[in-house]
Amino acid sequence: MKLVIASRNHKKIEELKRILDGLDINILSVNDFPQLEEVIEDGLTFDENALKKARYVCKHTGLAALADDSGLEVEALGGKPGVKSARYAGDNASDEDNIRKLLKELEGVPSDIRNARFVCCIALVLPDGQEQIFWGYVSGKIIESPRGDQGFGYDPVFIPDGFQKTFAEMNSHDKDQISHRRKALDKLKEFLVKFAQIYKQNLL
Ligand code: IMP
Repeated sequence: MKLVIASRNHKKIEELKRILDGLDINILSVNDFPQLEEVIEDGLTFDENALKKARYVCKHTGLAALADDSGLEVEALGGKPGVKSARYAGDNASDEDNIRKLLKELEGVPSDIRNARFVCCIALVLPDGQEQIFWGYVSGKIIESPRGDQGFGYDPVFIPDGFQKTFAEMNSHDKDQISHRRKALDKLKEFLVKFAQIYKQNLL
């Protein structure tokens, strides 16, 4: 079975290959299909964006396609920055710009109500029209000033529940064990293990 990942991000592609290693799946990415265009992430929800990307890639390659969308939801901000996480402070905003804006909006909000969660949504679209969505979450709190220099995005201001360190103070191995992405990927893997077996049987 062939599966195309709707991402040009090498880190994401390698992570997926590692997690799906051992399954009878040939993993490709949009880098293997230069004719594919960039899909604009203009959906109002994570699943809308992930599905839009996966549907486009499936339609134009004729192969199973996988896409993800992720972000941070802060309770005191009504779920913001949400789907706009990457460009919260503007279209070309850096991680530092986004963090600065977030901390400004949370100024004066006491620590017991600075709850937030990272969300990861993975969409799988199959050539027969089947669509599956897998969700992963990690809950925690937003601190008042950044700590740590690992990771990316909002990692320096997010402490996952049950820990003292921010995501940016953890090494990537420890973050990967509990992350929103990991949880969604585990659900995807569970599905693909079953699916690959059925697919193989149908071919025999
Ligand atoms: P995308 O799903 O790769 O487009 O990520 C959207 C944005 O959400 C990123 O640019 C980050 O700002 C934020 N984000 C998603 N996952 C994480 C994470 O694990 N740590 C920190 N920020 C994240």
